[in-house]
Amino acid sequence: MTSVPERLRHPEKRNNPDNPIQRKPDWIRVKAPTSKQYSETRDIVRENGLHTVCEEAGCPNIGECWAKKHATFMIMGDTCTRACAFCNVATGQPNPLDPMEPVNVAAAVAKLGLEHVVITSVDRDDLADGGAEHFAQVIGYIREMSPGTTIEILTPDFMNKDGAIETVVEARPDVFNHNIETVPRLYPTIRPGARYFTSLELLSRVKKLDPTLFTKSGLMVGLGEEKQEVAQVMDDLRAADVDFITIGQYLQPTPKHAAIDRFVTPDEFDSYATLARGKGFLMVASSPLTRSSYHAGDDFRRLREARAVQSAVSAG
Ligand code: SF4
Repeated sequence: MTSVPERLRHPEKRNNPDNPIQRKPDWIRVKAPTSKQYSETRDIVRENGLHTVCEEAGCPNIGECWAKKHATFMIMGDTCTRACAFCNVATGQPNPLDPMEPVNVAAAVAKLGLEHVVITSVDRDDLADGGAEHFAQVIGYIREMSPGTTIEILTPDFMNKDGAIETVVEARPDVFNHNIETVPRLYPTIRPGARYFTSLELLSRVKKLDPTLFTKSGLMVGLGEEKQEVAQVMDDLRAADVDFITIGQYLQPTPKHAAIDRFVTPDEFDSYATLARGKGFLMVASSPLTRSSYHAGDDFRRLREARAVQSAVSAG
C-alpha cells in the first residue's frame, strides 16, 4: 500500500470533521492476501513502476483478484486533480505524463498473460485533452504486444473536453466503462467536481460513436440514496444505452471521507439486480463487494454471450 501519509495524501480533506469508521458486517469480511500468485502480481506491478487502483483505492478484493493475476492498472500517475468525497486516491498537482508508461503497462499485461485487462486513470483536468491520447496509446501498445487480450477501460469524464471521447473510442477498447458513482441528489457532496448529466452524456456518445463497443457503468450504494433514486439512475443509464451496470457497497477509506449511511444487505443487492435485469441491462453485477473491475474478465465473456443471444433473438 502507499506510504504517503494521510495528511499529504488528502490535504483538501484535512479540515473535514472526523467520521468514525463503522465496523463491517460479516458479509463484507475478506481474507488477508497471502498467496504466491498475489506476490507474483505485486512484483510485476513494482518491476514495471506501475500504479494500480487495487492498491491506491485500498480495494477489499485485492487478495482474490491478484491471486488470479487480475490487477487494474491506474495510468497517468498516482495523483488526481479532483477530490471526490468517497475516493482514496491522492489529490494534488500531478507530475507530467510518463511517455514510457503506455509501453510499460503493455509489457506488464504481456508478462501477466492476461486474457482481459482493465485500465483506469486518475482525473487529469490539467491536461489539454484530459489524457485521452495517453489512454489511446496504452490501448494501442496492448493491442500490439498482446493481440489476444481484450481491453476494458474505466475513464474519467475528461471534463467534457473537445475530441477527447472520440480519441479514446477510435482506439477501440472492447469495453468502455465510466462510473456514474451515485444518484444525482448526492453529487454536490460526494462527487462535487463532476456533473451527473455530463457522465450520462459521455456514455450515450460512446455508444453512438461506436455501437459495437460495450458500455458499462457503476454506482456505490450505502451513501444515503433511496431505492427509487437508484431505479431512476438505472432508467437514465438504459436511456443512454448502457449495457452493463455494477452496484457495490461504498466503504469509507478514512475518517476524513464521506461517512457510510448504512450497509446494504445482500438481499437488497439481489433485489437491485432483479430490478436492473427487468430494465433491460445485458449484464448486471450487484453485491456488497462488487467493484467496476471485479471479475471483469468472466463478466466480459458473459457480456459477449448475452449480446450474441440478443442478436440471434432479434434476427428472428
Ligand atoms: S476489484 Fe478491481 S480494484 Fe479491486 S482488487 Fe479487483 S481488480 Fe483491483
